[in-house]
Parts: sequence; C-alpha cells; structure tokens
Amino acid sequence: MLHGLSRVRGDLAFARPRSRAELGAHPGFTKAACLMPSATPSSARPSPVRLITIDLDDTLWPCAPVIQAAEAAVYAWLAERTPGLTDRFDTGGLRTHRRELMLARPDIAHDLTAVRRLSLRALLGELGYDLALADEAVEVFRRHRNRVEPFADVPDVLARLRPRHRLVAVTNGNAEVQATPLRDAFHHSVTAAEAGAAKPDPAVFELAMRWAGTAPAETLHLGDDPLRDIEAARRIGIGAVWVNRNGQLWPKDLPRPLLEVRDLVDLEAWLQAAPSGWPTGPSGRGDGPGAVDAV
Ligand SMILES: [Mg+2]
Repeated sequence: MLHGLSRVRGDLAFARPRSRAELGAHPGFTKAACLMPSATPSSARPSPVRLITIDLDDTLWPCAPVIQAAEAAVYAWLAERTPGLTDRFDTGGLRTHRRELMLARPDIAHDLTAVRRLSLRALLGELGYDLALADEAVEVFRRHRNRVEPFADVPDVLARLRPRHRLVAVTNGNAEVQATPLRDAFHHSVTAAEAGAAKPDPAVFELAMRWAGTAPAETLHLGDDPLRDIEAARRIGIGAVWVNRNGQLWPKDLPRPLLEVRDLVDLEAWLQAAPSGWPTGPSGRGDGPGAVDAV
C-alpha cells in the first residue's frame, strides 16, 4: 500500500543535499520530514518545483471565525429587512437549509456562493419577500468573508516564495483572495466554482497546472485537509505537503503525506534544503497505491 509513497520519499532523499541527522536537528522539521531515508545522494534530479498550489481556509488563515462573523453580519442585515425570515430561522437553521439544498442540487454543490444565493431566494420567495434581497445579502456575506486574518507566518513566507515559484491559490470555499490581505501574494487563483468541481476532484489542480503550464511532477500542493488536499493531489501525481497547524492525527486509512509541516516556515526550510531536485510523484489518477474512494 505504501509502495508509491516510499518511492517518493526515496527520491526526495536523493534530491536533498543534507543528511537525515541535519534535517532531524532542524527545529522546523517535523517527524514526517524526518522519516526520509538517509541515503547519500549520487545525483540530483533537475526537476524544480515550478508551481505551488495552496489551499486557503485553515491553511493560510483560520476559517471558522471569519465564516461566523460573516454569517452574523448577514443575519443582522436580514433581521432589519426580513424579520419574517429571521423569526423563523436562526443562523443554524439557514445553514441546515443550505446543506439540504446542496444534497438536492449536486450540480451546484461545489459553488458555495450559488448555494447561498439560491437557498436565500427560496426562503425569501416562500415568505413573500423581494428575491433581489438574496443578491444583496450575498454581497454582505462576500464583503465579510474576505476579512480574513492570515496566520503570522504566512505573508512573509509567501512573499519570499513568490519570486521563485508560481503561486496559485486553490480553494473549495468562496473567499476571493484578491480581496483579502493576501491580494498581492499570488500569481493566480482557482476556485471550485470556477473549476466546476470541488476538491478532492482534480479539476482545481488541473486548472492551476494548465494556467502555469506545469506537469504534476513540477507541482507541489499545500493544504490542511488530508482527503481534499493531500490525497487528492497525491492521486494525480502532485507532491502534497500537509500543513498541520493544530497537531491533528493523520487518518489511518490514507497514505502518509509527502511532508508534514506545522507552518509555512517549515515548508520554506524544506524547500531550501532540496534546491536542485524534486521527486516525481506517484503516477496515474485514482488508482495509485493506497488510493481511496472520494467521499
Ligand atoms: Mg482548507
């Protein structure tokens, strides 16, 4: 089951100029990084990381606080204009309605803004309110949704990576990175709504690679979600780095990530330790060693 992953780790060891002991001694390297074999490199493979795709929510900023604040703002806005709606639904009730809509409409479930708009339109229509209020409410949500606060390590590391790699934001969510404090950090962004499918579907990765003109072996993905980020990237041969800020346990049913880091400072140190080579990830899609069904 771990054959493919072992191969990746082996290649990495050959690409790295430092010894395992040195890496283990580096304060930034986590246990996963130190699992790599300690073979001495005989030659480095000249295949640098040209593209880094980066998840947004809970990778670059905490997601829950900004969603809660945005939903509270929308709710207060609705309470002033549509009291019949807020008398009937609290924020949890509105969320439940959206989830039910996503189940009923899998064709738009990847587009969270469309789901939010359609859900509100349905409820407003049911209660006899102007449907155009749904568009205004979505705009209120959008403004607050982008008021994210990046983790402290993020802005400086992205600024240092930007000259050396193509940086593309890839998200299932509806944050608009160009409207956030990280507006200048990326070269490009791709959302699930634009790609037509949410991770773990490969569509966002494929769109990002098409934009950058890169192959999976030249691409690295950073994300916090074991399935939607790490396993999804691994299945199409992209090296995936698990950004595990909260010390979560890795799911037993998934192959280990290429690398686990606590923050982007760890990642930057790792990239600097392997400047001249990059491993070829497992090939194939969805049928690689240890692949699991998407949920
Ligand atoms: Mg995330």
